[in-house]
Amino acid sequence: MAKKGNHCSFCGRSRDDVEILIAGIDGHICENCTDQAYTIIQNESLAKPSSSKFNFKLRDEFKPKQINEFLNQYVIGQERAKKILSVAVYNHYKRLNQKQNDDGVEIEKSNILMVGETGTGKTLLAKTIARYLKVPFAIVDATVFTEAGYVGEDVESMLSRLLQACDYDVDAAQKGIVYIDEIDKVARKSDNPSITRDVSGEGVQQALLKMLEGTEANVPPQGGRKHPEQKMVKIDTSNILFICGGAFSGIKEIIARRTQKQAIGFKADGERISDENLLQYINHQDVKRFGLIPELLGRLPVLTHLDPLEKDTLLRILTEPKNALVKQYQKLFDMEGIKLSFEEDMLEYVVDKTMELKLGARGLRSILEVIMNDAMYELPSQEEKTKEFIVTKEYAKKHFESSNMSKLRVA
Ligand code: ADP
Repeated sequence: MAKKGNHCSFCGRSRDDVEILIAGIDGHICENCTDQAYTIIQNESLAKPSSSKFNFKLRDEFKPKQINEFLNQYVIGQERAKKILSVAVYNHYKRLNQKQNDDGVEIEKSNILMVGETGTGKTLLAKTIARYLKVPFAIVDATVFTEAGYVGEDVESMLSRLLQACDYDVDAAQKGIVYIDEIDKVARKSDNPSITRDVSGEGVQQALLKMLEGTEANVPPQGGRKHPEQKMVKIDTSNILFICGGAFSGIKEIIARRTQKQAIGFKADGERISDENLLQYINHQDVKRFGLIPELLGRLPVLTHLDPLEKDTLLRILTEPKNALVKQYQKLFDMEGIKLSFEEDMLEYVVDKTMELKLGARGLRSILEVIMNDAMYELPSQEEKTKEFIVTKEYAKKHFESSNMSKLRVA
């Protein structure tokens, strides 16, 4: 028998047959056995029902009005989308809690499609709802998906993200929410499949369709396709709520063509349909014309639009949400013992610049960052501490105009 200390206590291989032999108090382990042990632990933890923080139950406070009120704390404007989403989410979770009986009535899933320019709050809405319901949430980008067998990701990879978001709690993941961004990018190029058929786009739509309607998917827990040795996890998607979003650029023309044909530019009550508010008339037919296949659209029964952000909405976004940018800067300064305030016309200046540069709500942050950078650099190391710092329009203008950002020009 090999001498103690010269062989792995688990597999018995001798020191010469292994690369690494790790010593313990009363034995040794080689790299092969640590690898094997790691795999066993991983598989065990996947199989075990965990005591998860995602313990979803339909509670009284989950009524549509309450959901909407919660959304109001974070999302400004977009009243119609908020209302439609609140109802859809409420019905979705009511469906999960329905008792099985024989009346034959089966509530179908209310997956949601949101159409609106980028930066108008689509992701924020989906994220806020998941936060409210305390269910696992994953954001995925439809542009990375390709048909199985092509370079890119399988649609199943979205479920890996969801699993990761809830520490591999399969039960919780099966009741989670997935936000699929840029769904418009998988549209086929034309309504008429025989002309310019975008096969890969359609293949992805077919794969998404299965996912959205409910399937038992085999999911690689770590994502990707590169680890054939990893044990697959079975996830039933029939109770996962899918929220899809996209800018659908060009869809306004499709809506215009349809509404003008129907009403020659007028609604029934004689009000002219202006270019600005066209998106509010969107229907499934328009999205089909844009290039989503009817079967997929059938799985996205709730359709809503987001309004473009106007000046007053952007101003409110700066100050009103629970974690509004203004509040965040105030907190940062407060930690230095400095009371920070912004003059009203300074905030208007920030909004004007954001609109001028067509940066959307995300631009508010970039512009404020440029303006506030010097102060955040200087103030913390001041010998005699400033107690109060008021940001005026002049200050903002001076700092913005001396930055590279001010040289941006919009085509
Ligand atoms: P989208 O998904 O429509 O491209 P996002 O939801 O990612 O846009 O919005 C980007 C950021 O802009 C958000 O994180 C948020 O800070 C801000 N934002 C956009 N729209 C709103 C809104 N309606 N209310 C509050 N903040 C908003």
